[in-house]
Amino acid sequence: MAQPLRLCAVTFFNAWPLFRPLVECRPEKVPVDDDGDPLFSVSDKLPSACAAALANGEADVALVPVAALLEHPEWVVVPDIAIAARGAVRTVVLACDVPLAAVTRIHVDMASRTSVALMRVILAERGLHPELIDAPHGSGAAKIGETDAALVIGGPAFGLTDKHAHTLDLGDAWFSTTGLPLVFAVWAARPGVLTEAHVAALQATRDKGLKHAEAHARTFRDGKVEAGEPVLSEASYADYLRRSIRYRLDAYARNGLVELLTRLQGHRGRPEPVDVQFFAQPHATVAPVPSSTPRQFDCSALLDRAAEGGRLDPAEAMVLYDHADLWALGRAADQRRQALHPDGVVTYIVDRNVNYTNVCTARCKFCNFYTPPGGKGAYVLSRETLAGKFAETEALGGIQILLQGGLNPDLPLTWYEDFFRWTKANFKLSLHALSPTEIVHLANLEDLEIREVLVRLRAAGMDSLPGGGAEILHEEVRGRISPFKNSTGDWLEVMRQAHRLGMVSTCTMVFGFQETAEHIVTHLTALRDLQDEALANPVTEAGQDKPGRFTAFITWPFQADGTRLKLRDDTSPWRYLRLQALARLYLDNIDNLQVSWPTLGPDVGEVALRFGANDFGSVMIEENVVSQAGAHFMLTADLIEHHIRQAGFEPSRRTVRYDRLPGPHIAPAASA
Ligand code: SF4
Repeated sequence: MAQPLRLCAVTFFNAWPLFRPLVECRPEKVPVDDDGDPLFSVSDKLPSACAAALANGEADVALVPVAALLEHPEWVVVPDIAIAARGAVRTVVLACDVPLAAVTRIHVDMASRTSVALMRVILAERGLHPELIDAPHGSGAAKIGETDAALVIGGPAFGLTDKHAHTLDLGDAWFSTTGLPLVFAVWAARPGVLTEAHVAALQATRDKGLKHAEAHARTFRDGKVEAGEPVLSEASYADYLRRSIRYRLDAYARNGLVELLTRLQGHRGRPEPVDVQFFAQPHATVAPVPSSTPRQFDCSALLDRAAEGGRLDPAEAMVLYDHADLWALGRAADQRRQALHPDGVVTYIVDRNVNYTNVCTARCKFCNFYTPPGGKGAYVLSRETLAGKFAETEALGGIQILLQGGLNPDLPLTWYEDFFRWTKANFKLSLHALSPTEIVHLANLEDLEIREVLVRLRAAGMDSLPGGGAEILHEEVRGRISPFKNSTGDWLEVMRQAHRLGMVSTCTMVFGFQETAEHIVTHLTALRDLQDEALANPVTEAGQDKPGRFTAFITWPFQADGTRLKLRDDTSPWRYLRLQALARLYLDNIDNLQVSWPTLGPDVGEVALRFGANDFGSVMIEENVVSQAGAHFMLTADLIEHHIRQAGFEPSRRTVRYDRLPGPHIAPAASA
């Protein structure tokens, strides 16, 4: 019989939804493993005692204050569960009767070390360093005096804001400083003990616990009444569980978590990047393709079928990726390209890549572009700088701005709306703007639905969406390279909503993260499925003749220079050509494939035009992201046209919707 994991929960009311359903359920509802043995034995303690129990081996899994993760980087965090707040939390309050600056001593409830450490950081950032005095849990409020304050945690903090002249809700203070959720606690486990069944049971417990928020509120209030303690209404307690506390550790909360850990660590004089290990759950949004292929395949028959436009299934695509001869794959992709674009024209666009800010909270390990908030070299481009770049773009014949940046918590949605309106009022440029990652960030920051963010941005002037931020759409890979960035599901949802509004977008894939054939094909399948969905339910914007959809696919290899990822993976031109040819055959519902010359050079770009691509991308008057990680190729429009002609095609400029622009723009060089 398997031993149940010893689970140590927190006694605080805000933790009830995360564990009470495990102890209050009927015996037949206790979560069990495949052999019918219970998954958990449950106890509860104060938060700091929970962390100690996990550290000293008394517990296998514990709800720990997040500060404990800095001392135990080996602990494995259960994904998608947290005790967090976005703004005021009401139960972690610094209270005093004089202005904070006049406080000399603070009595701190040591029940939660995260709250105490956080308070230190918040005060230090305001230049305040009062003496801290440990106080037993629940006793601090009684000590508030003339120059004494108290950090009160848990139930005793309810209603403190009405009783004292000066209070600081730490959730509020954190959100107004960082624009990020404050994560107080997570489930953490000793390495190697968690299974998928444990994680799924804890996530299901959270959902059940929240469903019964009113029942928890009633029980909690009854207990207070019985103990003769002051109480709030039942509705107020339920509202606390439902609104003040957030129990999901989504990408936005993970951003907040890493920001908090980074600041706590920096406060201790250790400014190095923080890593958090999450339990790797199977991909939840896109069904993984089968990892083994029992059927016998004939590569040339598959290639013949795909070249004729026949649809490949995921297992067939994996066989081609692993076994097809590169040149045969290229020939089939070229045949498909000819069928889709028979007139021998290769298109390109003249646009400028503008990275409006490099401030980012996501801290992706593969990124050498971002600066954390407050970091050295952090920037937001001024209107003056933007005006100069936009005017120069128009002067060079550019028709579009490809606008992307970091996840900057200081830029609200209105900043983007004003910026887009100003652009449209002053320039004739299209805005191919904001990747799904930035849209998800704005939705989180403003607490809005993704669709509403898109509607507002479109009304302000956004024309289309670039497909950045996809990397590999598989949670196993994303967990390794960008654990604090949006999920696969979020990325796809932004594109789904954009297409439903009639907007067009592009889609991308970055390889070189030690992904497998299964990861690659899962990624391509997610894109193909979403495109099927868009084409099956077409929504066409006024004045357009084609519906919202992916207009093009672009793939390129990861550029590693200066990044934190030390991977050994194949990022050669050969693998690039293999992937691009496979994509041409597999993405049978996406019309256009762009070559990626900025990372591999224009000569490889020419070859790629014979491996399924029909577009030479963009002149890119400026590029900052991949160029900071080692890609240094730049081309002018005449050089792009030269390379297109050298590959045996006629060049034509285009729009983001792949409408051709009248030409010729640049006469071919006279032959000698
Ligand atoms: S890749 Fe994008 S989201 Fe990730 S750290 Fe860089 S700028 Fe931020």
